[in-house]
Amino acid sequence: MKKLLIANRGEIALRIMRTAHEMGIKTVAIFSEIDRNAPHVRFADEAVCVGPSPSNQSYLNGQRIIEVARELNVDAIHPGYGFLSENASFARDVESAGITFVGPSPFSIEIMGSKLAAKAAVKEYDIPMVPGLDSAINDVAEAKAIARKIGFPVLIKASAGGGGKGMRIVEDEASFEEQMQRAISEATSAFGDGSVFLEKYIASPRHIEIQVLADQHGNAVHLFERECSVQRRHQKVVEEAPSSILPPRIREKMGQDAIKVAKACNYRGAGTVEFLVDSSLNYYFLEMNTRLQVEHPVTEMISGVDLVEQQIRIALGEPLRLSQESLAISGHAIELRVYAEDPQNNFLPSIGTISCYKRPKGPHIRVDDGYDAGMAIPIYYDPMIAKLITWGVNRDAAIQLMLEAIEQYEIEGVATTLPFGRFVLEHEAFTSGQFDTHFVQKYFRPEKLQHTTPIGAEIAAKIAVKLYCDYQRKLKVPDVSGPGWKR
Ligand code: ADP
Ligand code: ADP
Ligand code: MG
Repeated sequence: MKKLLIANRGEIALRIMRTAHEMGIKTVAIFSEIDRNAPHVRFADEAVCVGPSPSNQSYLNGQRIIEVARELNVDAIHPGYGFLSENASFARDVESAGITFVGPSPFSIEIMGSKLAAKAAVKEYDIPMVPGLDSAINDVAEAKAIARKIGFPVLIKASAGGGGKGMRIVEDEASFEEQMQRAISEATSAFGDGSVFLEKYIASPRHIEIQVLADQHGNAVHLFERECSVQRRHQKVVEEAPSSILPPRIREKMGQDAIKVAKACNYRGAGTVEFLVDSSLNYYFLEMNTRLQVEHPVTEMISGVDLVEQQIRIALGEPLRLSQESLAISGHAIELRVYAEDPQNNFLPSIGTISCYKRPKGPHIRVDDGYDAGMAIPIYYDPMIAKLITWGVNRDAAIQLMLEAIEQYEIEGVATTLPFGRFVLEHEAFTSGQFDTHFVQKYFRPEKLQHTTPIGAEIAAKIAVKLYCDYQRKLKVPDVSGPGWKR
């Protein structure tokens, strides 16, 4: 592989280019009109504008991207996450053009892209599943009867759903019909596929997922788990590795089950098998994501493995050099997704230009970002500015370093989720490890942010008071009227 095109933008495009660069592979960036001066464009060896700012005319324009790849004699395309990463027909078109797709086969993407097809594929492998339906349903009366059997609350899910969208919780029978109609129409408009199914709504689950790597020669390993239970609207906001609750025995079992899921769809490359874990540590298969995950850095930090390098080597047909026995967890890592969103105002996207931007620095602090001072946050894409990752010898050390890194991180001009991150990392439920996917809903209120004084500001205030007092003492003017004056 001499030249790699990255069909993405922002932090993940840069992240992939860095590894390519280290491996001596030339990089090609693509960009939309608004991203002309973005860091990923400047970092790449070559860059081509693929269209106007809306993603369906640029980053999602597979045909144009393949054309560019051909013109520039590109050997491989890495799709990153989001955009075309889970689009089986794009992967197929890339391969038909004689270009290597850095990812699984179109066949694996297709199966795992449908939650129902995924369940069907893993059925023979004895993987625990969330109780519910394993086929699409559109007859409301029949669905209601099944929901009654499963027991309320139930979750209506779009088979083609993703990114936390296409899910409806139904608390009782009375609202079932209306919710199901809505779920079908939402799934049709959002994913172009109205298939929905039912799942038991697990009351207090934790989201724990396993990273897997599989090569083209039948070898597969897992790289332990990531816990992503801190979510907002079913979207992850804080992730960590390892989970604070998983005993080694269950970790190993989940790891082996994740490898089975990968085998079930003849997987190659890096993939993630997601599970829900209940309060008794029973786990249930949720879905498989057939791409690099947003939160992959926490796994890299505890395992020492560069997942992008592994993806590239696997795409080249190299056999995995990692054996399960050679992999071990070292310390603890946490990631905070830093969004241009206002946590004081219902997390509304904060539109504007970043006027000041200073990254936190230091050992074991990693910042994966795609912005610089002076850049505006485009309205067209995901408003994530950066991912802040810290590593520590244990969980407490990683949390402490994260709090310090949040203090050091200066982003002005737009509101960010940094103060929200501090709220999470300082919360007793998080520090004690006693939390589930309802953490944010249960504990977070915007008012809570107003009372938290940043550690740095607090220290600065204390120093100021001390200096003021010393200064006052020095300048104390004796009473002029008293007899002591002349003396
Ligand atoms: P991860 O599991 O890697 O954290 P997310 O669910 O946060 O993944 O999704 C990563 C990105 O991909 C987000 O920008 C999300 O909006 C996007 N995404 C994921 N699945 C879909 C989908 N089916 N349709 C549209 N966008 C999606
Ligand atoms: P997506 O494709 O949008 O990522 P997932 O099936 O992975 O959808 O679910 C995303 C999140 O929704 C989970 O992490 C969890 O918080 C919640 N969720 C999904 N299924 C269930 C369920 N059966 N019971 C409770 N929560 C669920
Ligand atoms: Mg998911």
